[in-house]
Amino acid sequence: MESNTLDRVSDMLEGTEWHLCPTNHVLAIELRHQCSSIIPLRRDRILWNNFIGPVSLSHMWDTLRTRAVAPSWIKLVWHKYAVPKFSINLWLIMTQRLLTRDRMVRFGFNVNPDCFLCNDRETHEHLFINCAYAQQILKECPIPISLSWQAFQNGNITQGNVDAIRKKFVSLYVATTFHFVWAERNKRNHASGPPRMANQLINDIKARIRETLYSNISFQQEIKKDMTLQILLF
Ligand SMILES: [Zn+2]
Repeated sequence: MESNTLDRVSDMLEGTEWHLCPTNHVLAIELRHQCSSIIPLRRDRILWNNFIGPVSLSHMWDTLRTRAVAPSWIKLVWHKYAVPKFSINLWLIMTQRLLTRDRMVRFGFNVNPDCFLCNDRETHEHLFINCAYAQQILKECPIPISLSWQAFQNGNITQGNVDAIRKKFVSLYVATTFHFVWAERNKRNHASGPPRMANQLINDIKARIRETLYSNISFQQEIKKDMTLQILLF
């Protein structure tokens, strides 16, 4: 039979059998060879890298990308109570990507390298962990937090036997605190409004956490199982 580029697969069928061009052209021979293993009129399915089972876009993406090893602190950043904008800020802190004064000096900016909150040298480790201002807030967390940069890098900032729900609460407390500390630091940098003391921030941070968790269905279900979780919110 003759064929052209506008032919459809159905044009190559006669009843339920293949009806292919009989010539000895190399492409026609290859086509006949390929079709010999395909049963016509069977329902189509997507094949991908010899994968057995239904193929999804996520599966295709996983086979194309290089999958990096997740850092050990990843559960501090992403969990079911996480607030995306706080988590992104925390991710930038854990990877030391915020434009802190030490980085500005390294990039050649002529700036005062001191912390806006206590006059020590401003680095990520200082501003969020070692600064007395941040420590005052972190120490208010109802579940004790290890005030060590290494503990944060290891993703293990609670002490003793703390269950998964409370660990997520601590992660939310940390992410919320870091967001408020960074905002206060920027406010002082741009002299926009009067400086606020750490104890003033604590009230706002706790209110924000209450707001987040009271509207989180999953946390509300956990409270029904364990009423002592309520204590964390005040
Ligand atoms: Zn400081």
